[in-house]
Amino acid sequence: MRGHSVQQYAEYRDQYIDGAWRPCGDGAGTITVLNPATEQVLATVPAGGTADVDAAVTAARRAAPAWAATTREDRLALLTALRDGIAAAQEEITATVVAELGAPVGFAAAVHAGLPLTVATSYLALLAEHPFEERIGNSLVLAEPAGVVAAITPWNYPLHQIVAKVVPALAAGCPVVLKPAEDTPLVARLFARLVHEAGLPAGVFNLVTGTGAVAGAALAAHPGVDVVSFTGSTAVGRQVAETAGRGLKRVALELGGKSANVVLPGADLARAVNVNIANVFANSGQTCSAWTRLLVHRDHYEEAVATAAKAAAKYLPGDPADPRTRIGPLVSAAQLARVRRHVEGALAEGARLVAGGAEPVPGLPTGFYVLPTVLADVTPDMTIAQEEVFGPVLVILPYRDEDHAVELANGTEYGLAGGVWAADTATAAAFARRLDTGQVDLNGGRFNPLAPFGGYKSSGLGRELGRHGLEEFLQYKSLQF
Ligand code: NAD
Repeated sequence: MRGHSVQQYAEYRDQYIDGAWRPCGDGAGTITVLNPATEQVLATVPAGGTADVDAAVTAARRAAPAWAATTREDRLALLTALRDGIAAAQEEITATVVAELGAPVGFAAAVHAGLPLTVATSYLALLAEHPFEERIGNSLVLAEPAGVVAAITPWNYPLHQIVAKVVPALAAGCPVVLKPAEDTPLVARLFARLVHEAGLPAGVFNLVTGTGAVAGAALAAHPGVDVVSFTGSTAVGRQVAETAGRGLKRVALELGGKSANVVLPGADLARAVNVNIANVFANSGQTCSAWTRLLVHRDHYEEAVATAAKAAAKYLPGDPADPRTRIGPLVSAAQLARVRRHVEGALAEGARLVAGGAEPVPGLPTGFYVLPTVLADVTPDMTIAQEEVFGPVLVILPYRDEDHAVELANGTEYGLAGGVWAADTATAAAFARRLDTGQVDLNGGRFNPLAPFGGYKSSGLGRELGRHGLEEFLQYKSLQF
């Protein structure tokens, strides 16, 4: 990886708690971090236990009153230093995410390192302008910090998910305890270092690496936590919501998806299909908002299938550290097994293989590589049309008319994202209003880091990013005059 710092094997034995790196509390085990391209061990980190979680939450509670009392200018200065630290560490972030996630280096630089910088920067502007006080009739309404935040994050966009929770929480005046995913703790440790270097007061940010079942569950249940902000699978999200409900904690959940990309008659079909392939293969398909279902009018179905096959053939899996690579491995052996199982199941249920398949990738005997796959003749009742695969797999379904397209698009338990392509954006927008989903891109409309991001139905509760993301960490007090 020319130009990037080289990863050295390391055995980490500490957690970032109360402003310092501290030895792990309770003799808990370790988590082994693998490079998914080479299957070599990159590092071990502590699998923190309840003692670490308790120490971190206690430190956060202790820090809460002083942090809540800081001025907007104080927080702005510290978060600007943190943002500058993220900017200065772009290459190190890129190298870390290439190593522990297997993201291709170009994508890692632009998205895994670049997007957190964009999001952190967006919160500086929002913090500078946000009205923390508002007159409503004879009331003065104060927006106050909602308390200690537990942030539990997944591995697929590891730093983005951390920044999208931690930065608005800190901007709102809330201290945070972060429990990152088991597969990608190294970029979380790097983030903790940047927080420390930015000079945030002790206890305002704390990191506990550990397993979901132990550290994650203990954090979500801890009586010292006021808000649980969770991103991950719908199954774990339900458990977290139940636990948080018992403790009457506020909860925000960013969960799974099975988003539809709908091409209406009159749209630029070739462009819609090519953009869909790029969308669903990005990050090896490990994107909660990926357009994993392409819906095409039956008159244009075979044309779409042929275009998708041609586009998919350009994606050959390879070494993520090679700048020419467009698609790297999956994050883990477990993900690889899951994706292959889904593809085999779809073929057994009668889907037609258009590209890829469940076989090992030729020439890549090592690494968690899977063939980017396109499946046609998929019916809405098939498992592959309903369940999240979380791999580079696109299914293509035909629809009869617009009502049928709406029915199919809304016909899963999820509702996170989507796309609509039409002859003009007004037609696309009219169709998008009928979709039960949190975001829709019209004719390839680009990602907006200030727009609320989150799910309808089983895709979640609450919103991240922009003003809506900041408000997740505020609570309101009304003073009547
Ligand atoms: P996961 O639910 O297994 O794990 C997510 C996090 O929760 C990890 O940190 C994990 O350690 C922790 N966890 C696991 N069990 C826990 C428990 N019982 N209590 C508390 N915490 C627990 O998900 P994953 O496999 O890491 O991530 C993939 C999933 O995340 C996919 O379903 C994907 O769609 C979803 N995702 C959603 C979004 C979004 O914004 N909607 C973004 C990224 C990923």
